[in-house]
Amino acid sequence: MTTPIDRSTTWPYESGEPGAFSYARFSSPTVADAERALGQLEGGEALLFASGSAAATAVVLALLGPGKTVALAEGAYYGTGALLRELERWDVRLVEYDQTAEPPGEADLIWLEAPSNPFLTMPDFDAAAGHPAPVLCDSTAATPIHVRPLERGCDIVLHSATKYLAGHDDALVGALVFGDASTAARVRELRSRTGSVAAPDVAWLLLRGLATLELRVARQSESAGALAQYLRTHPAVETVRYPGFGGLLSFDVADAESARRVETSTRLIANMTSLGGVRSRIEARSRWESERVPPGLLRLSVGLEDPAELWADLEQALA
Ligand SMILES: *Cc1c(COP(=O)(O)O)cnc(C)c1O
Repeated sequence: MTTPIDRSTTWPYESGEPGAFSYARFSSPTVADAERALGQLEGGEALLFASGSAAATAVVLALLGPGKTVALAEGAYYGTGALLRELERWDVRLVEYDQTAEPPGEADLIWLEAPSNPFLTMPDFDAAAGHPAPVLCDSTAATPIHVRPLERGCDIVLHSATKYLAGHDDALVGALVFGDASTAARVRELRSRTGSVAAPDVAWLLLRGLATLELRVARQSESAGALAQYLRTHPAVETVRYPGFGGLLSFDVADAESARRVETSTRLIANMTSLGGVRSRIEARSRWESERVPPGLLRLSVGLEDPAELWADLEQALA
């Protein structure tokens, strides 16, 4: 009825030779089951990693090298920029560009984010696909329910599956999905060498999360859309960023002090980081991203609570 968890780290050879599973650093049955499920959702071949950041690291180490340039979407997840700057010590270069326009000519890998976190811009997929370099799309916030990047001309999809895909704030896990089997094989090899594969228990939690993904994301999108509309009418709110789908939005209040007041005054909405869980949460992003974001920017990840109660909570916190 449910997928069993196989926690083995090693399996007997079959007639003296390694079978489909031999050592868990290469792969394991539960990981492979979750990879099949995600691969079907995205329309490609999926690989699971210990985190979204481990997946991002594997892409760079497997596919790039010294002197190669990543063109990263401006305003993408701050941790991706921080990771790529870390890798600059190995002479992997980073340029940031406006993903709503043409990518820069010198790029060896184009790194989109759909929609960007926390600025909520959507990439110009056609402009990226027209560039000769391979295109990766971090689709963590969109999920395959709203965007399937491989169908939009991208070569690789990245997920922090920690967020919507697992969905319950109890599994740290990342994923890559490839349109092309030889690129997948290259990255799988790197994953085996570096040992960044996901654990079986986490893969099982991901499988459980995927079973309700569509329902969760539909509810979160509906509620987030309603909240974005309410927020646009509120006199204390200056800017609302919402791409029209998904459960993630951001909005600005006057300054850092106002943002602090709002995030510490909500009751139903937790004041904590991350996104994509069943519980709504809000935070001022300047604590992590400093001057990269407006001081009054609040990021709101909408969960499964009653949207009327969420709005009542935001209204009293904004008052
Ligand atoms: C959280 C996040 C990541 C990093 O994923 P981890 O699982 O935390 O390592 C990457 N991209 C986006 C858009 C994220 O929100």
